[in-house]
Amino acid sequence: MSKELLKTPIEFLKGVGPQRADLLKKELGLFVYEDLLTTYPFRYVDKSRYYTISEIANAEAEVQIIGKIRNVKEAGAPRKRRLTAEFYDDTGSVELIWFKGARWVRPTLKPDTTFVLFGKPSLFNKKFTIAHPELEVVTDEIQGGEGRMEPVYPSTEKLGNKGLSSKGIKKLMYTLLLQLKGTLSEYIPQHVLDQTHFISREQALFQIHFPQSLEILDRARHRLKFDEFFLLQLSVLQKKNIHKAQYKGYPFAVVGSWFNTFYSQHLPFELTGAQKRVIKEIRSDLGSGRHMNRLVQGDVGSGKTMVALLCILLALDNGFQAGLMAPTEILAKQHYASLLEMGEPMGLSIALLTGNVKGAERKRVLKGLQEGTIHLVVGTHALIEPTVVFKNLGLAVIDEQHRFGVAQRAALWKKNQRPPHILVMTATPIPRTLAMSVYGDLDLSVIDELPPGRKPITTKHLFENQRLRVFGFIKEQIQLGRQIYIVYPLIKESEKLDYKDLMDGYEAITRAFPLPNYQVSIVHGQMKPEDKDREMQRFVKGQTQIMVATTVIEVGVNVPNASVMIIESAEKFGLSQLHQLRGRVGRGAEKSYCLLLSGLKLSDNAKTRLQTMVSTQDGFEIADVDLRLRGPGDVMGTQQSGVLNLKIGDLVKDHSLVSLAREWAQHTLSEDLRLENPENRNLRTEFLSKYKSKLSWSRIS
Ligand code: ADP
Ligand code: MG
Repeated sequence: MSKELLKTPIEFLKGVGPQRADLLKKELGLFVYEDLLTTYPFRYVDKSRYYTISEIANAEAEVQIIGKIRNVKEAGAPRKRRLTAEFYDDTGSVELIWFKGARWVRPTLKPDTTFVLFGKPSLFNKKFTIAHPELEVVTDEIQGGEGRMEPVYPSTEKLGNKGLSSKGIKKLMYTLLLQLKGTLSEYIPQHVLDQTHFISREQALFQIHFPQSLEILDRARHRLKFDEFFLLQLSVLQKKNIHKAQYKGYPFAVVGSWFNTFYSQHLPFELTGAQKRVIKEIRSDLGSGRHMNRLVQGDVGSGKTMVALLCILLALDNGFQAGLMAPTEILAKQHYASLLEMGEPMGLSIALLTGNVKGAERKRVLKGLQEGTIHLVVGTHALIEPTVVFKNLGLAVIDEQHRFGVAQRAALWKKNQRPPHILVMTATPIPRTLAMSVYGDLDLSVIDELPPGRKPITTKHLFENQRLRVFGFIKEQIQLGRQIYIVYPLIKESEKLDYKDLMDGYEAITRAFPLPNYQVSIVHGQMKPEDKDREMQRFVKGQTQIMVATTVIEVGVNVPNASVMIIESAEKFGLSQLHQLRGRVGRGAEKSYCLLLSGLKLSDNAKTRLQTMVSTQDGFEIADVDLRLRGPGDVMGTQQSGVLNLKIGDLVKDHSLVSLAREWAQHTLSEDLRLENPENRNLRTEFLSKYKSKLSWSRIS
């Protein structure tokens, strides 16, 4: 019953009608009663406090005063008549002014009547003036005024013109709530409500719009947020649990000689505690017979590659092949080179497969994969092409997950009879509660520790007019034998312009650092892959001292001798990109530096980004700031933003409530995975109406 009522088209609400309904749809996306009901106030005006006129100077925004009116005057040309009046109490007076509507307002300004005034004072010619105040004649009810919090709703100019400013919407809301009274039933399971002590859903919905006190407003918010998180967690956990029940994985039962030999004889360093823990988590997945679908989060330089390699060896020990997929050609090649270096001495057969592997070599690789003579293939998207057939793929590692789309990951599933285990690695750390919601159907491991001996990277923000100083610093560092990155932004919309910036920069640098004393490499997206590769290799081998590049070097590139990262137009980069770029240095034994060059004029947002980079190197902290600046929808990409389309909950700030909701959701599903039991009937209805349309992408990764 209540559900049907909530789905009533908005035009049927008293006071709306077809015209306003049309506007509400267009301007605010409100179609049915429920849409209006969940349009929560974005702030409240505190009308519980009264000011005296002498106190106005201390007020921060709007004030509420009790007083009387005198000296009503009209002035100005007929079409521009201004109305003024004096409003006074025992402590003083303020001027009121109306720039329009004098004709309507004037008759209401009765003398000897006590009014409650509400408005925003501004100082004008040393006197406080309040323009277009709200005035209400004092009645008992108003003066009682206990805990009057006025909701403020989003509106637009067009809506305002049709009487639907915040105030108009407030009236509609009131009408709606009266009509809904008694119909807003609970859908959260009773046993959850019994133990969580929330206020009722109906009470929460009334109080969020018309709170009687701050305290109850808090409780209302708490309840409504919980509901939102609970449904979201139900949706991700249901997918995950169904997935687990449905898909069997290949059990990797043994730890054999590949793993053990490597571990005892070839491991180049002691693993960090975090690496060991994550490998353990992965091993218990792989051994269980269930299909693994795991996300490993680890900051730049936390050693994800080694974790991947050890898992790959486990696959081999159990008679399977493995694949590693990277988002760019450069990165794939680098992974290939480092895995080859570690694996070849043990007789591991590794191949590289990218779009540029052609002809006889491509044939050889494809044949080797099909026959099983190649143990491990490292590559780009090329790996998921239908022509790539494995004899027995058991594990697919995906590096830098956020660069790949859902469909691409799904294609990996089809490379064997049962889907191969999936290990997704990302260097974009996001807070756990957010990860639990966005990637809720993946299991999550976090490498939260960097290998020992990493020296902090000194980060400085400089303005572009200090570039000569920077050049001097580069010279010093090159003299010490170090290598330097200089990175230019590449933003798609203005690729031409950026390209010009890059080329101008390159020229300036070759002038300041001329041959034969200096060698400068350049790599950018418009170069042929062979040329890119050659330039990259020259830098890797130390034949050039400076690498001028666009963000193609952002992910993964590893040149330990490079100790200076200079980022041009740093204000144009996002935080996570800056963090990734900085992660390219500080990989060797030398003291490293990151210099952020920017223009003089910076937006507040850009300032915050640059300051954050200077003040911290912790990827999680940086991710938090990034989230605050951009919001989860943007950070996670449009693809997932639907899931994050929450009306009131904040996945980052409300993390303890997210966890609570998740626990209860898990508990509910453990008893009734498909929500078919009678006691979950309301829940099921609500759940389907919210998440039905999104179930289609349940089979990611
Ligand atoms: P990322 O997590 O960014 O992919 P990498 O796997 O590239 O990091 O590792 C960064 C560097 O740290 C590499 O040079 C790697 O050899 C080294 N490394 C990884 N794990 C350890 C460790 N436990 N001790 C010392 N060095 C390590
Ligand atoms: Mg990496």
